[in-house]
Amino acid sequence: MYSPPAGGELTDLDYKDLGLKVGLEIHQRLNSHKLFCECPSIMREDEPDSWIKRKLGISYSELGAVDPAAKFESLRRRMFLYGVYYDNTCEVEADESPPYPLNEDALEIALTIALMLKMKPIDEIHVMRKIVVDGSNTTGFQRTALVAIGGKESCIETNWGFVRMATLCLEEESAYIVESRPEIAKYRLDRLGIPLVELATKPDIWHPDQAKEAALKLGRMLRATGRVQRGLGTIRQDINVSIRDGARQEIKGVQDLDLIPEIVRREVQRQITLIKIKDSLISRGIKEEYLRTPIVDVTNALADSKSHLVRKALARGDKVYGMRVVGFSGILGSEIQLGRRFGTELSDYAKVFGGVKGILHGDELPNYGIDEDHVRRVRSELSCEEGDSFILVMGKRKPVELAFGSIRERLKYALKRVPNETRRALLDGNTSFMRPIPGSARMYPETDVLPVKTVPILRRIKYLPPAPEQIVEKLVERYNLTEDLAWELFDEDKVALFERISKYNVPTRFLASMLISVIRSLKRDEEPIEKLKEDNFIEIAKLLGEGRLAKEAVPEVLRAIAKGEYTSAEYYVKDHQISMEKLDSIIKEILIRKSEIIRERGERSFGMIMGEVMKEVRGKIDGAIVSRRVKRKLEEFLQAS
Ligand SMILES: [Zn+2]
Repeated sequence: MYSPPAGGELTDLDYKDLGLKVGLEIHQRLNSHKLFCECPSIMREDEPDSWIKRKLGISYSELGAVDPAAKFESLRRRMFLYGVYYDNTCEVEADESPPYPLNEDALEIALTIALMLKMKPIDEIHVMRKIVVDGSNTTGFQRTALVAIGGKESCIETNWGFVRMATLCLEEESAYIVESRPEIAKYRLDRLGIPLVELATKPDIWHPDQAKEAALKLGRMLRATGRVQRGLGTIRQDINVSIRDGARQEIKGVQDLDLIPEIVRREVQRQITLIKIKDSLISRGIKEEYLRTPIVDVTNALADSKSHLVRKALARGDKVYGMRVVGFSGILGSEIQLGRRFGTELSDYAKVFGGVKGILHGDELPNYGIDEDHVRRVRSELSCEEGDSFILVMGKRKPVELAFGSIRERLKYALKRVPNETRRALLDGNTSFMRPIPGSARMYPETDVLPVKTVPILRRIKYLPPAPEQIVEKLVERYNLTEDLAWELFDEDKVALFERISKYNVPTRFLASMLISVIRSLKRDEEPIEKLKEDNFIEIAKLLGEGRLAKEAVPEVLRAIAKGEYTSAEYYVKDHQISMEKLDSIIKEILIRKSEIIRERGERSFGMIMGEVMKEVRGKIDGAIVSRRVKRKLEEFLQAS
């Protein structure tokens, strides 16, 4: 069995050895109206205009097979509430009217992306229904269409090798989840139907950092079209990760690229540990039938416990149920990811399937106010022997039974293999269980939407947008920018604005850093930078070019405009400019104040005086003008004395 080096740090060689395979699925919203209606693709922050209530009735007859994910969701009989807005949702989103024909503008964008990646477009687009039973689509399915497939040439190059493209699909975005409880789920329909491309790579990625590089490159390629949505939530990555002897996990909803390597590393760690746990259980001689132990009401054993957890549960009318886990002592408490234990995995299952708050297990007790004496009583109620552990779940009988049922299934897997799961990315790079990975019987044809031939749409695409690398290379050559700065302009979507303001007579590197680092530092200070409009930057560049605004003042001007203190840079300049007379009097005052040192050091005191003057005039007048003036006044002063 493979064992990672001490400290858990894996080397490149280790990843090769482990057979790490990573594939990406990038979901990017397109800048077009919705896919199957004319509603604008705009997300809202305010309360919906009204709510509609639904229960999803899903018929499996047309599927022929019962999908494990579908079966799992049907365990949870839930009510669904959908928030509608009068200006960006209609009967289509509410599933009260059949879909309109496929949005051809969105299809054109998808085909453009396919061609940029040298993928092979499909001749005729057939919309399919993909079953989703979590209520995120009012119809019970998501509409999706395969647009292009990867060929020999469709790959991107990374520092760790080539990554091939697998498929490109055009899909409708799901509804936005507002609230989720076991009995009810609330969604907003503004997001439902926004067109998005799903770009999937083959599992060619074998290194955690390569996954980030590939995601970054593909994201840039999508943005180079200029026809995708920007901002929070408009692009997200799903990461498929497996190692040899492990199992493919579908990790959902990664928004921060920097987190990707950490997620992959921790998933590798998790699978390595789960394999080790399996081996250790086998060597202990644990068998599946040992996991058939009964669920026992142990409320009485804990009735006089001082634990807040227990007392609160009992006050709610809940009971405490326990299950003996034969031979698992020490396993439930073993760490499988930094800060997550095997018990945490079981707890995830209990929460998802039973809707309970979580579990307590023998390896973490005594704790949470449950003392040794009470642990002994529980163990005795459950007939635990040495080497056994146990699990406690608090709640009502029915949800607790569902929770234990899922825990038992998960424990059985521990003896066999790593289960395939859909997991949610957490902010620290860990993941938690969401649901079983869906089976393959999920798709069937959407008969309400006619197929669309791609040839006429491909003819409309007269030229392809330049690749991101070409755009950046041009910026470096034409404007003498560093490559890093040029990439930042590209990534921040500032290339067009930069090119517009670069015609004013201002050093281009300064302009680029105004758009990047100055804005970044204002953002750090939590200034409302969204108030800064392109016109503000154009005006500032013009004032700089005319020598009417000092470079040093630019951060303050932008801050003042963002704060709403000024509506234009021109007004700021008028208020803050100082006259030459005023400058001269400031210099004179400093020359007198520091006269002793100046006489001693002579011309070498220039820097010191300059510093003193700038302290008072920074941002109000160009530094170059100040420098000339100080030089002259210093000469005059030295000659006179
Ligand atoms: Zn609509």
